[in-house]
Amino acid sequence: MELPIFKDIWQNSLQWQPNQEQLEKWEKLYQEILLINRQINLTRITEPNDFWEKHLWDSLAGVIGLNFLSYKDSLKVLDIGTGAGFPGLPIGIIFPHWQLALLDSTQKKIKVINLFLEALKLSNCQTVIGRAENIGHLSQHRETYDLGLLRAVAEPSVCAEYVLPFLKVGGIGVLYRGNWQKEEELNLNNALKQLGGKIILIKPLKTPLTNSVRHFIYVKKTTKISDKYPRAVGVPKQQPLSSK
Ligand code: SAH
Repeated sequence: MELPIFKDIWQNSLQWQPNQEQLEKWEKLYQEILLINRQINLTRITEPNDFWEKHLWDSLAGVIGLNFLSYKDSLKVLDIGTGAGFPGLPIGIIFPHWQLALLDSTQKKIKVINLFLEALKLSNCQTVIGRAENIGHLSQHRETYDLGLLRAVAEPSVCAEYVLPFLKVGGIGVLYRGNWQKEEELNLNNALKQLGGKIILIKPLKTPLTNSVRHFIYVKKTTKISDKYPRAVGVPKQQPLSSK
């Protein structure tokens, strides 16, 4: 099985096209994932078009074409709960001048990503093992990132508590969502009031192959965050800030 190229679809949906080197790296990543997936269950998404849409297109749709990002700069990016490396890996491949940290609490997944990084020679990506609630308090990570990404990790208000401690003031958190409900927005706004952030853009998109609904929520960190966030492991999920 081989990945489709779909240059026209990239162009029409995101006004952007991958180059040959990027296409080759994605293909290599895909082959590595298929190989490992025979031994451990990394992802259910393995069929070529499915992988292209849900892992490549979706990962990039969250970060391409934003007028509030300075793409030329060497941005520091954190992917929280990266799993098999999404959305971080496809982004690291197309922005070699960005520095990416891929964070997950599962050792097994991080080990696999380390294999991918070696196979793909992706020197701009590194992995971090741990819980966001702990790593977010370490000085080498706290308030040091320009961009924080979260896909399929937790409720929006919980994601906000995970990501804001990592961001510099002015940094952006990107929440990758499917449907977007008014109630989620109320909860997120409530949490952001306590954490020191605000929603700056909600971008609805349809995926180009199956027309599925996607929403990308962009949250800007507006003030320095209190030392009490993130709260202890598990607390953000058990007692979301939004319920206060
Ligand atoms: N972002 C990937 C994986 C989603 S699954 C994708 O969209 O394909 C959620 C992942 O988040 C899991 O790998 C889990 O280990 C990790 N995770 C959940 N809560 C976390 C936390 N508090 N800190 C670090 N990783 C977490």
